[in-house]
Amino acid sequence: MEKTPATLFERPRHNHRQCIREALRTAERVCAERGLRLTPIRRRVLELVWQQHEPIGAYELLGSLGRDGRPAAPPTVYRALDFLCDAGLVHRLDSLNAFVGCDRAGQAHVGQFLVCASCRKVAEIEDPGVTRALQRAAREAGFALDSAIEVKGLCASCQNSSGDASSG
Ligand SMILES: [Zn+2]
Ligand SMILES: [Zn+2]
Ligand SMILES: [Zn+2]
Repeated sequence: MEKTPATLFERPRHNHRQCIREALRTAERVCAERGLRLTPIRRRVLELVWQQHEPIGAYELLGSLGRDGRPAAPPTVYRALDFLCDAGLVHRLDSLNAFVGCDRAGQAHVGQFLVCASCRKVAEIEDPGVTRALQRAAREAGFALDSAIEVKGLCASCQNSSGDASSG
């Protein structure tokens, strides 16, 4: 799906099953290339993370796993999430304590996210300049980057609705 600034937060109607199928296919390819095992629970957790483009918390994931009649113990789910993050298939968003599927899985990158502080929607952006600058600064500090970069703010629709609220 093509991304323009306007669709980063508000995605147009689309066939989301296609997104899920693609994410699972990519995960299979990435794991095969790297000799990683996409076990059934890891695959299932990835599929649940991809049920929507919005970030999902670990507790919600546990709930979904229980509802489909295949409950999983929390440590199992946390381990699956760790695996998916390490494999670059999912990003962990510390500021929301949630997880979101990466649609650039398999491409080495540090996730860069715009996080709406109001509706908690996120948009993954990719600015090679930002990554380069951070990697250079990190290298100079002897620092190893691992998690995603998260920047908080307000998405366009929340900026509009807060304007409406103050005027009426
Ligand atoms: Zn989708
Ligand atoms: Zn990503
Ligand atoms: Zn928002």
